[in-house]
Amino acid sequence: MTDTLEFHRCLPLGAEAHPLQRWEEAPCFSGFSPLPKPLVCTILQYMKVIAQIKLIPTPEQHEALTRTMEQANAACDYISQVAWETRTFKKYDLQKLVYQKVRDQFDLSAQLTVRMLAKVGDAYKLDTRTLRTFKPHGAIAYDDRILSYQLSQGTVNIWTLEGRQRIPFVCGERQRELLQFRQGESDLVLVKNTFYLLVVCDIEEPGSAEIEGILGVDLGIANIASDSDGEHYSGEQVEQTHQRFHDLRQRLQRCGSKSAKRHLKKLRKRQARFQKDTNHRISKTLVAKAKDTNRGIALEDLTDIRERTRLRKTQRARHSNWAFAQLRQFISYKAALAGVPVFIVGAAYTSQRCSVCGHTERGNRPTQNHFCCLSCGHTTSADTNAAINISRAAVSPPTVSEAALPSRQGQAHAL
Ligand SMILES: [Zn+2]
Repeated sequence: MTDTLEFHRCLPLGAEAHPLQRWEEAPCFSGFSPLPKPLVCTILQYMKVIAQIKLIPTPEQHEALTRTMEQANAACDYISQVAWETRTFKKYDLQKLVYQKVRDQFDLSAQLTVRMLAKVGDAYKLDTRTLRTFKPHGAIAYDDRILSYQLSQGTVNIWTLEGRQRIPFVCGERQRELLQFRQGESDLVLVKNTFYLLVVCDIEEPGSAEIEGILGVDLGIANIASDSDGEHYSGEQVEQTHQRFHDLRQRLQRCGSKSAKRHLKKLRKRQARFQKDTNHRISKTLVAKAKDTNRGIALEDLTDIRERTRLRKTQRARHSNWAFAQLRQFISYKAALAGVPVFIVGAAYTSQRCSVCGHTERGNRPTQNHFCCLSCGHTTSADTNAAINISRAAVSPPTVSEAALPSRQGQAHAL
């Protein structure tokens, strides 16, 4: 399993993603005009991140965990059968119906029993037309009462059928940092005979009261990122590697043999690792820069980037979307950890609008890399120009009144 981090961006209650405007609909401004309405800026409130840790159980503990997992999933199958036969699909109705029977028959703890009832209930949420069955090694959920962490000792204390077990765990530095923000929930998963815990962490987004400016960041292809200070973060190496992988992949795909497929899989993983390392490096640098200069970070709305790259229906465009999303996730969570606020701005005009005079026209950008204003003659790199526009959009956000912002405990809306 790769070392994945999952992110759910939580929008403030009532805040909706603004509608997207296409180039065709964008009016051309002559002279400087205020930023158009769709450039709404959304302040991230709070973010769920999944940290992943690897358990190092003794053979006996491994056995105990496996038995517990199998037993819990067998309980799910039983609950599902009852639900199906009695047409009882609501969690609480199910609980009344089978809770005691499950406790007696499967020996699970009260908490785990409730969790498994919820798992079955969730499974029937989509529809109740098919009987749900559960894989013996499907993930099972733990909460605080049956799982605790001893971070300084690097152990967890986890409930199993053989009683509570203290099991050492290992994880990277980044994951360890995240663990400080863990909430009550964790999933126990078994991948290739190794147990992992996926830990839900809630990082509260820093407020924007303290900052003295905004570092705008434009995500691109040739330059993976460019900031409003004019600095570029090269994607050259990534691009080269990507091209090399791409060529090799095509040759291997033509070949189609078993070993070629194996080789391809390895290649794909290596490329993903490389991309990830690059994204970690870039996001780290950007966040450090913003923190050192007491600034927030402004990023484009990902939907806008997607919209932009969709125009080129190449594999590279798809790849870029994925890479953008990852980079943005990394920036968001590293920024949250560092206390740097992140602003998301609509990118509707950022690449065609002159950052000096505000003139907006497609012709301002004669090539992918160059910006040359047809009105004032300002010339710069297209990426830097966009990054400056992005930083401006965040500096003067449209009126989002305090009252419109919900409490931080507000209902989270995962994007
Ligand atoms: Zn201009």
